[in-house]
Amino acid sequence: MTLLPDNALRESRCLIDGEWITERSSFPVTNPATGEVIATVPRLGAEHTRMAIEAAHRAGPGWAAMPAAQRANVLKRWHALILAHAEPLAQILTEEMGKPLSEARAEILCGAGYVEWFAEECRRPVGEVLASPDATRQLSTVRLPVGVVAAITPWNFPHAMLARKLAPALAAGCTVVAKPAELTPLSALALARLAQEAGVPPGVLNIVVGDPVTIGSELTANPLVRKLTFTGSTAVGKLLIRQCAETVKRVSMELGGNAPFIVFDDADLDAAVAGAMASKFRNAGQTCVCANRLFVQAGIYETFTQRLAAAVRDLRVGDGSQPGTTVGPLIDERAVAKAQHHVDDALARGATVVEGNAHLPGNFFAPTVLRDVTMNMLVARQETFGPVAPLIRFTDEADVIAQANATEAGLAGYFFTRDIARAHRVARRLEVGMVGINTGIISTEVAPFGGIKQSGYGREGGSGGMADYQDVKYCCLGNL
Ligand code: ADP
Repeated sequence: MTLLPDNALRESRCLIDGEWITERSSFPVTNPATGEVIATVPRLGAEHTRMAIEAAHRAGPGWAAMPAAQRANVLKRWHALILAHAEPLAQILTEEMGKPLSEARAEILCGAGYVEWFAEECRRPVGEVLASPDATRQLSTVRLPVGVVAAITPWNFPHAMLARKLAPALAAGCTVVAKPAELTPLSALALARLAQEAGVPPGVLNIVVGDPVTIGSELTANPLVRKLTFTGSTAVGKLLIRQCAETVKRVSMELGGNAPFIVFDDADLDAAVAGAMASKFRNAGQTCVCANRLFVQAGIYETFTQRLAAAVRDLRVGDGSQPGTTVGPLIDERAVAKAQHHVDDALARGATVVEGNAHLPGNFFAPTVLRDVTMNMLVARQETFGPVAPLIRFTDEADVIAQANATEAGLAGYFFTRDIARAHRVARRLEVGMVGINTGIISTEVAPFGGIKQSGYGREGGSGGMADYQDVKYCCLGNL
């Protein structure tokens, strides 16, 4: 395989119908660690979005009719190309988003994992023969691609969030118009460049970048788009669901979380501290499955607090491209202001700082541990999306489950216990789409990722992951 030169991956144009597009109107992409402008990308509007949708619509029948094994081969080549270019992809990701290079590398592998998984899933059966109520009819179902898919993705995982929407959509035979977050479009454009190289035909994958409201309005209003898949904030998700109602599009929503992380007295404390560090401080706390509220049982509250604070002291905040950095900057000033506001509110209501809360320059935020946090504080009620660990003391299992569930969100939850009966009981009772038992890391392409309650619907990955991009058609063959 010939590798593309690094500058070919540093694409700053948009992709419509196989052509790379520029536009007079443009906007800068900055490195959140340094504030430096790293690229200028086109600000596309409704007209280009319409062009992309129409290109996807034209390309649809050809892509859907391609034998599954051929589509699988294109995805396999794409997977191999992503792995071969993992290092430059990781560098682009760290530059535009800020996460440490080690985490960026892991994210590239994670995205590649979804591409590989759906290349494999491509060739599974696409229907079933049903038990007929009588001998004169044969009843069957076939799952067909929904058609043109619009995909809107966030800035916190600019590579993986897109890969895990594109891979199942393309595998199912759908064509796509994707709109990455305007803060981090470069990873999406690089991924599209590799898709093109892998043999994804013109129009099958289109990437538009620009004003989210204008592009989002066209994507949701245009009747040619049959499905919207969105990952982002709950507020924008609700708006998009409303916008999609007019043309009755299918929708998948992966929205905000407010994950409980519960440590019971009988937990393995080494595992619990390691799990909390991974779940809370990965990506500087900017993941939708991040532990947001840490409930710690009274018997181990003091020990756990001290041990978590010691682990947090070992974190190294800095530019993600520098070796040794374990926590990068937050994405922008707004994110810093929100984390600070949550800490200030908690302190004003009686919490105390165990570690952190030191002022850092720019978009950097010191990893912070707060103790004596209560459920009335903002830090426990809202998703902080920053490196702040609020520790809430509890005594009783039933009470902590009630508190954990006292939120409109229902994405991920975690708990640590050595009691097998409790493990089953609590896993069943937590109102979340995903639960980590004695671990802080749960995401993988082989499992269904998604939430319940106001964290959304639809599942990404797993053996059912393609179903979100397929319509079921029932066929009744009579007069046998
Ligand atoms: P965050 O707070 O994490 O930035 P958002 O929900 O604002 O989450 O952003 C997630 C994605 O949604 C981004 O690609 C963003 O551009 C897009 N987005 C934001 N507002 C709209 C909108 N009104 N219509 C369509 N997309 C939008």
